[in-house]
Amino acid sequence: MRVFKFGGASVKDAKGVKNLAAIVSKAEGELIVVVSAMGKMTNALEILIKAHYKREEERWTQLELIKNYHNQIMDELFETSDMIFQEIDTLYQQMEDRLERKASLDFDYEYDQLIGYGELISTRIVSAYLNKAGVKNRWMDARFCLRTDNKWRDASIDWELSDELVKEAFTFDDESIYVTQGFIGSTVSDLTTSLGREGSDFSAAVFGTILKAEKVEIWKDVPGILNADPQYFENPKKIDSMSYREAVELTFFGAKVIHPKTIKPLKNNNIPLHVRSFLKPESSGTIIDSEQATETTRKIPVFILKPKQVLITLSQPDFSFMDEESMSWVFGIFHDLDLKINLMQHSALNLSVSIDIPEQGVLELIDRLSEQFEVRYNDGLELITIRYYTPEAIEKEIAHRTVYVEQKTRRIARFLVKSTKKGS
Ligand code: ASP
Ligand code: MG
Repeated sequence: MRVFKFGGASVKDAKGVKNLAAIVSKAEGELIVVVSAMGKMTNALEILIKAHYKREEERWTQLELIKNYHNQIMDELFETSDMIFQEIDTLYQQMEDRLERKASLDFDYEYDQLIGYGELISTRIVSAYLNKAGVKNRWMDARFCLRTDNKWRDASIDWELSDELVKEAFTFDDESIYVTQGFIGSTVSDLTTSLGREGSDFSAAVFGTILKAEKVEIWKDVPGILNADPQYFENPKKIDSMSYREAVELTFFGAKVIHPKTIKPLKNNNIPLHVRSFLKPESSGTIIDSEQATETTRKIPVFILKPKQVLITLSQPDFSFMDEESMSWVFGIFHDLDLKINLMQHSALNLSVSIDIPEQGVLELIDRLSEQFEVRYNDGLELITIRYYTPEAIEKEIAHRTVYVEQKTRRIARFLVKSTKKGS
């Protein structure tokens, strides 16, 4: 059994859906196909949800936009008499019903009740198209089997409950192919939850882990994992294989290529992850597994850039030391505000930390920290991590930039730098 995951870019138009069908039709054996929302539909749904929450009329125009996008794709793939139009209408109707009602006060809860429609619609379309193209498959509602806690927008899988339900749902008795959603699950009381933006990779890993897949394959618009994000760096090279450990570190430092939570369950069950191109299905992609040899033989530098950083520097006003007690107080505040630290450095009197600029700004954080410390901050920064750094690599990417913080270990060099136009 294998799990294929197709992201939004792979199904952004009718041509994409046809391409997916061509790839799936060539795959042999049992398969679960996990699909994300089409194109940028999750972003469009986020706008819809914000308008709904504020009860703005814009929610209706936004709904129209979302419907039109999908309708156009369906018009290209199906005949008007096909059942799919009714199935999708039912989903539109459910969205409308929700938009008619006043939202509750809990934004994150409201978000989860609507955000999954991107995936529900895309998987219905993909499943129907595959069937029409002769690739027999069954549509499965991921919410019936992936059970989570109720931390809206960032729900955690309940592995014990999900284990049983996933095995019950995907029996492969009458079917060799299932199509299901990434990104969503549900609470024990059947309320929809979402696993965090870009969470479909993780869904694929969860299905793969529970069903002991021989492999999980993520189909992307890049040839595999590159040593640098082409958005920020020139001449990126493909990496043929890497260990789980390295993949975790890359995603931790900000490489966007796979969702950070994806690797852990796969590693613990020794399931290889294959990242490959839906544009060039015949090419080899990147294999991530426990192969240790790759780490020592491959020495090319890997560049990762995390944009939109803010550096916060705290100092003790009375010249007392930055000791463990004061640091644990500081970390408590970051934890309270749900802010993740990307880099930190301390000296006798100072502690500097870099975080992603919070959606709601830094004022609340600074207010809280100012209760005990003098606080300064710099924004407009980016964090560059270079694995397997060389003097040439540092020269090329860093030498011409203003560096605020620098850290090196034997393998990794990290630089917090002023952002240039290219990166911001
Ligand atoms: N559609 C969701 C998002 O765009 C989940 C995913 O694509 O992984 O965040
Ligand atoms: Mg997506």
